[in-house]
Amino acid sequence: MVRVRFAPSPTGYLHVGGARTALYNYLFAKHHGGQFILRVEDTDLERSTDESMRMQIEDLKWLGINWDEGPHPETHADMGPYGPYRQSRRKEIYMQYAERLVESGRAYFDFRGDAELEAIKERLMKEGKPPQIEAPAEIVPPAEARARIARGEQAAIRYRVTEKRDYVLNDLVRGEVRFPSDMVGDFVCIRSNGMPVYNFCCVIDDALMKITHVLRAEEHLSNTLRQMMLYEAFDFPIPKFGHLSFILGPDKQKLSKRHGATSCHDFNLKGYLPEALNNFILLSGWSSPDGREILSREEQIKLFTHERFNPAPAVFDETKLLWMNSMYLRALPHDELWTRIEPFLKEAKIEIPQSKDPVWRDQALGAFKTSMQTLADAPKLFETVADSLFSVKPEAVEVKGWAETKKVWETWLQLLEAHPSEKVSEAEFGALQDKVKDLCGVKGKTLFQPIRVAVIGQPQGTELKILVPLLTKTSLINRVKTCLKEL
Ligand code: GLU
Repeated sequence: MVRVRFAPSPTGYLHVGGARTALYNYLFAKHHGGQFILRVEDTDLERSTDESMRMQIEDLKWLGINWDEGPHPETHADMGPYGPYRQSRRKEIYMQYAERLVESGRAYFDFRGDAELEAIKERLMKEGKPPQIEAPAEIVPPAEARARIARGEQAAIRYRVTEKRDYVLNDLVRGEVRFPSDMVGDFVCIRSNGMPVYNFCCVIDDALMKITHVLRAEEHLSNTLRQMMLYEAFDFPIPKFGHLSFILGPDKQKLSKRHGATSCHDFNLKGYLPEALNNFILLSGWSSPDGREILSREEQIKLFTHERFNPAPAVFDETKLLWMNSMYLRALPHDELWTRIEPFLKEAKIEIPQSKDPVWRDQALGAFKTSMQTLADAPKLFETVADSLFSVKPEAVEVKGWAETKKVWETWLQLLEAHPSEKVSEAEFGALQDKVKDLCGVKGKTLFQPIRVAVIGQPQGTELKILVPLLTKTSLINRVKTCLKEL
């Protein structure tokens, strides 16, 4: 049974790199009929917060990435047989395993303080050697060490690197990677303040949680050597590793806040659809066998195999994400699209009484959606049909000053008043406009721009033949009357 995990450190919102790791693990699990575990790596007490954990859980839910085990999505209580799923609650487990290493002689209590260790490193560097800590000439025997600790002394537990050889990793993304064991010195498993370190917790948890495959960011590649040493020391089966390529900004630098939005939360606020962000992230380090780019979740699951991972860095191109978002947005059923748009209209304080009518809504969405790249584009489009927000905009000043404008507006008003129904179809609007042209003897700019101002309060904007059918005769009459009052 394939078991994979996403192991975020809760130190802020979920960023796109984390979301990609989560998505790939999720898809990999689903493809293989396996399980996907969420594990919270919150041992860094200074940086990890409950609030960040909650935010990351909300982001994963928003993306539709569901986990089989881990904190419950709502209550955050442990869900699954291998808990606790928060490292901060597993400290005794780590301690037990560290003690085992000490017992077997693979690790030792190290009473040397920071100053002493620094002095050792400095000396090594002066000698032209790598600043790697080795065991002291005399290791304190475990029983004596425990007694000293009981009396209040502090000691780290350090893994002892004894063998000199290459560790060979067959990475699912990178192929064969060789790590000479002397890349690392004896490394800390448990700090002298009792806090376990990432590399240690990670191995214990992955082993106890029966993780079979570890797909994670490339920045962890160098950690894998220490982790492989620990797997061997415990005689744990080593999972298969896949280190996913870096995600770079358009300037080929590592993606960071400098590049603008990088967290799922940012993209949510900017009006991106989670389906689109998912699909976009999917292609940041993986490609489909036939090169197709827009893939449903079912297709993603079906096609997601490790052979398609791309070891080259992925470039995060928001223009492409925008394009993908507009594709997803257009494909949404109108009811669903409206549900997603509503919060953006509310936020912008746009009230449209006629939107309660499903027929009107359908027509409006049909008219506007091709002009939308994100949900955040909705307010400026829907604003034009909100009667309460109609006003003559400063951009109309030139048009107001034209000699022909008054006549055009008066004629437009008369024709509207004579119009037999509340609805003005696209064809009827065309005919009305022609009549204004004939009656006033104006054409081109001096005809069209005053009419635009009479309808939307400004000379530029959405095409009137799309807009007018969304408004009522009464609304159009009120609008042109407002304009006339301004003269
Ligand atoms: N907590 C680590 C991170 O957020 C996870 C490392 C791993 O997946 O092994 O980067």
